[in-house]
Amino acid sequence: MTYSYTQISQYLTCPRRYRHRYLDGWREKDTRAAMLFGRAFESALAAFFRREDSEAVLFREWSACRNQGLQYSHGDSWDRMLQQGIQLLERFCQDDRIRILQPRRNLQIKFTRRVSKQNDFVAYVDAIGRLDGTRCLLEWKTTSSHYPEEPDGLLALDPQLVCYSWISGVAEVALVAFVRKRLVEVQYLRTTITDEQRQEFRQLVEDTIRRIESAQFLPHSGIRFPQNPCTTCPYVGLCLGRQELVEAALVRRPGAEDLGWLDELTY
Ligand code: SF4
Repeated sequence: MTYSYTQISQYLTCPRRYRHRYLDGWREKDTRAAMLFGRAFESALAAFFRREDSEAVLFREWSACRNQGLQYSHGDSWDRMLQQGIQLLERFCQDDRIRILQPRRNLQIKFTRRVSKQNDFVAYVDAIGRLDGTRCLLEWKTTSSHYPEEPDGLLALDPQLVCYSWISGVAEVALVAFVRKRLVEVQYLRTTITDEQRQEFRQLVEDTIRRIESAQFLPHSGIRFPQNPCTTCPYVGLCLGRQELVEAALVRRPGAEDLGWLDELTY
């Protein structure tokens, strides 16, 4: 079987959520504007590094999403997001801090690792290149809020960056955050992941897979006022038995309802 960072992180967020998604076949509807915009923007970035017209690619990819019944948040609109995307591309180009040689090879790089006799782990890393001259693994994020920079060193605890450092073997990692706000901003944040962190992540992966394979799917969402992950969980309708919430947020993979969940341990 092949596992990914998303699977491990879904399980660690709440094992019941993992079961809803990977065993019972429920998926979030792809109508979240921010998520689809992020994909369109990443295509535009790839075009930028291939020396193509990145703004035209952003317009084309974002236009393809326009009639998908997008759900906007924070007063966003299709036009406003396009405008922000173009400004972010211009800012990124002016900053000129990232270099990627051979972009066709060094963007969206697939890494695979064997984690046990039967299991592999796969990850797609956004890029490997140079930030201000230092070679590092690069992750892009489009976001509507500034990535926290305090306390100093916080980025080294980002589990996705630790995961990518582990699978690629690259210690220097960087997050480039494209912040969509009234005055757009591009944050360039770099950190070093230690050998110990990489080893711990491998142990975390192995331990999580063991728990998944022994069918431990009890909910533990950490409900506690004022932080309640269930309120933003797309699967809340399933846990509450509320059909209208299920229909509003989820779709089921065709055929999933006909299969016993134990037969569905394929990813
Ligand atoms: S609603 Fe809460 S308990 Fe149910 S899957 Fe989501 S986080 Fe877990």
